[in-house]
Amino acid sequence: MSIKVTSITKIYKTQKALNNVSFTADKGQIIGFLGPNGAGKSTMMKILTGFIKPNKGEVFVNEIDVLKNPLEAQKRIGYLPEHNPLYEDLYVREYLQFKAAIFKVDKNQIENCIDKVGLKTEAHKKIHQLSKGYQQRVGLAAAILHNPSVLILDEPTTGLDPNQLVAIRDLIKELGKEKTVLFSTHIMQEVEAVCDSVIIIKKGEILVDKKLTALKNNKQQVIKVVFNILVDDTLIQKIPNLLSAENLENNTWKLSFKTDKDMRSQIFDFAQENKFKILELAAESKNLEGLFRELTSK
Ligand code: ADP
Ligand code: MG
Repeated sequence: MSIKVTSITKIYKTQKALNNVSFTADKGQIIGFLGPNGAGKSTMMKILTGFIKPNKGEVFVNEIDVLKNPLEAQKRIGYLPEHNPLYEDLYVREYLQFKAAIFKVDKNQIENCIDKVGLKTEAHKKIHQLSKGYQQRVGLAAAILHNPSVLILDEPTTGLDPNQLVAIRDLIKELGKEKTVLFSTHIMQEVEAVCDSVIIIKKGEILVDKKLTALKNNKQQVIKVVFNILVDDTLIQKIPNLLSAENLENNTWKLSFKTDKDMRSQIFDFAQENKFKILELAAESKNLEGLFRELTSK
């Protein structure tokens, strides 16, 4: 287990930021930590990285107790804090050398990390001269300098333009091939694009903790299909896994299924077997964003 969080509660004076939060992350997973502003994401990450203490609960990273042994744990953790604080007057290499000295990391690692995050063409510049996307890469390079096996990234894509966003997501995926990554975001599509699993948090409590595939399959499939002829209800009922069928008009049916299978190809087979044609076939998207909104509204 790369990350194990048990019954964490954090109260800032009177504000309860986390309420009895528990979750785990397996080695090599990329986990999206998804929640609206103020949900408690940054608080959880600061506790995971040993920067603040909870009121209650336990946190382990690679079996090391973060609360009892924060320095040992931090050797295994790369952390990109929210807003990525950098010394902007420094040159990229200068900044990374400074970080390497703090981490007591071999300076040879610097070029390796610059390479890994795709920073080579910009590495001779001062940090303030870089675009937000490249500044993010500097933060990521600094986070992986000591070759940690767990990466904690607090909203690494917030404030990026669409192209930078895609590039940084790709980079997170790449880093996720050899590390366990927990990254926070308030964008559902991001989770779909990058993660293996998702933890949805709201008002300091975990609402969903699931593999993405399981979450997608959770939802029933609704498919609208237009045949070239009128198809009789008794025949429609022969389509496997059918939950309900509604004849919207003439040749148009709205079909609901509850199954892991993609029913579009089955409907296609059904039409072919019965010798009629499909003019239109539209699956209502398995929309995680809708689910997220549903779960976090009110
Ligand atoms: P998120 O990162 O999901 O936006 P945070 O962890 O930053 O959420 O905050 C969770 C809650 O705790 C919010 O209500 C926030 O206002 C509160 N909070 C965060 N940091 C502090 C602090 N240092 N003192 C008091 N309240 C805080
Ligand atoms: Mg935050």
